[in-house]
Amino acid sequence: MPMVPGTIGEFKNAASWWRTKIFTEVVPSSDGVGDLLRLMASRAPSAFFIIDGALESQKPFERLFARREKFVFDATASEPRTQDVDRVVGLLKGSGTSIDAIVGVGGGATMDLAKASSICLANPRPAAEYQGYGLDMAKGPDIWVLPTLAGTGAEITPIAVLRGPEKKLGINNNFTAPAVAVIDPLLASGAKKFNRFFSMMDCFFHHYEITRSKTSDEDAILDARDGLRIAREVLSCDLSEFDEARAVKSAVASVLGGSSSIGGRVGVSHAISYGLSNSSPSLPHSVAVTISMLACRDIYGDEGWNDTVRFLETSGVSRPTAREYGIGESHIERMTSTALGMEKLWLSHFGQDWRKVVDKNFVEGIYRRIVEA
Ligand SMILES: [Zn+2]
Repeated sequence: MPMVPGTIGEFKNAASWWRTKIFTEVVPSSDGVGDLLRLMASRAPSAFFIIDGALESQKPFERLFARREKFVFDATASEPRTQDVDRVVGLLKGSGTSIDAIVGVGGGATMDLAKASSICLANPRPAAEYQGYGLDMAKGPDIWVLPTLAGTGAEITPIAVLRGPEKKLGINNNFTAPAVAVIDPLLASGAKKFNRFFSMMDCFFHHYEITRSKTSDEDAILDARDGLRIAREVLSCDLSEFDEARAVKSAVASVLGGSSSIGGRVGVSHAISYGLSNSSPSLPHSVAVTISMLACRDIYGDEGWNDTVRFLETSGVSRPTAREYGIGESHIERMTSTALGMEKLWLSHFGQDWRKVVDKNFVEGIYRRIVEA
């Protein structure tokens, strides 16, 4: 197994701790903003920044907010909307200046907005027309990222998840992978407990589902096993207070979340989560997956379910419910049809014969448990 760094000192000097081939140059750092600006000065001097507005009051980010070429993004919703992408693209096209990189500074949503804006800048149609897989698209300016939250590896994956007028679906293209990711685990110190906790939960679920996947490749499964162990270690502690060693582990697990999802595929609780997300724009993805896992005890067995419950209790977080996000009985039919459409995820968990187990009744049963919880 590759050496997994445990302290910020080890992290800074760490060689790659993942096996899957990734497209991104990972720069481990303990001075993320400084290292980013130093590297950009020589390699991408005319960059445009997309920054999460929540960072504005935090001292480490002052130098970035002082820049003129930027878009401050309100990342309170769980994913950027296609119209946010169109807005950034319009702004960049209108300014007439040429840029050599788009830099995303923030959590998954902000990084996804940077990724999508870059590729859409080089292509003529509105972002909603590019949601999907394998579309023929031109490459935009290089994408750089400075993650401020550890999660499921948006800092290295070639996916930009977007909420469109009709559906939540990513732009999936090799040109949406960041060229450079400067990763400083300490930048998460200003993040709210809610965000730190649930983004690690999503990290845990990704790894957990990929280790059980029947269609993921071997390196992805090995990376997911390492990530699962580390995410479990982190979540076995009370995450109420920020802690440096745990932040390092979280950043390490997040990159493994990205590498494992390049050759791997998640499963049932993600399929179910998409139905929930489509019914409530205010429901964060990570919370949706937690709600789904809590209703999948019969599918994942006691292990995944027990861990989920234990992690929530350890950090003093109450079990999230669909009801809190306005989801009820009347949504079941539409959620069922969304989830049934996630064929690759059912295939990932159940294998070729998934249709023998998964039908309308089966999925409706899960949603019924969810709305009654
Ligand atoms: Zn997820």
